[in-house]
Amino acid sequence: MSTSFVSIIGAGPGDPELITVKALKRIQTADVILYDRLVNDQLLAEAREDALRIYCGKAPGLHSMSQEMIGRMLITHAAEGKRVVRLKGGDPFIFGRGGEEALVLAQAGIAFEVIPGITSAVGTSASTLIPLTHRGLASSFACVTGTGSDGNVSSVRWDLLAHSVDTLVIYMGISQLSDIQRELLRHGKHSSTPAALVERGTTSQERIIAGTLAELQSLAVSESVNNPALIIIGEAVRVREQLVQLQRAADASMTG
Ligand code: SAH
Repeated sequence: MSTSFVSIIGAGPGDPELITVKALKRIQTADVILYDRLVNDQLLAEAREDALRIYCGKAPGLHSMSQEMIGRMLITHAAEGKRVVRLKGGDPFIFGRGGEEALVLAQAGIAFEVIPGITSAVGTSASTLIPLTHRGLASSFACVTGTGSDGNVSSVRWDLLAHSVDTLVIYMGISQLSDIQRELLRHGKHSSTPAALVERGTTSQERIIAGTLAELQSLAVSESVNNPALIIIGEAVRVREQLVQLQRAADASMTG
């Protein structure tokens, strides 16, 4: 009987404490860990000293290891009976190619499990105090990619998203921001809709740049927003302003 087994696990959005107990256990017992660019180093430090750590990350525009190669490595190590962990930023099944890798393993007859992670939209929502849903302001949200598989602006239906979803969270959108902004405005989303750019959400380097839909592209340029970053658009962004003001007032009354 084969003992080949791969755990495809989510590392969470950046803060190393935002990983599930189950995923952390897999890291601690792994023989081999294939990890991506957005995985926090502190999580890799949890692995056994003798565990083999293999970097598979892709810097934007550069492919350091092809998807095919990653699949082959997963299969090879698992076939040797090693405990293999495939560690991905956020959640493996949300813009993480976890599904593709699961298919490769299933086709090769290798048993696997998928352990979820907190996706960056959800992690960042909490760390920036922007609720994705909020009674009276937002009763739906969507996570969409801003970049299509060909590297250009994504083929998502901006015309429909402009009207049918209250809070929009756009992954991989910074390089396509001017097109995204134009599409949403062209399809009738109001230019004064509150919006935020969040760089390195949940980490100690988190930056939040808030404004309106009409200002997004110029804010991204003037503030030199870099990846990884999310774009959040919707009335719920206002809740953050309210919360921050209330917190400031509370702090002032404590110190004053
Ligand atoms: N599987 C990941 C997404 C990978 S796609 C997840 O579930 O979160 C990579 C994109 O995720 C980046 O371009 C960026 O838009 C977003 N992202 C990942 N980590 C982020 C972070 N800490 N802050 C802001 N955006 C992040």
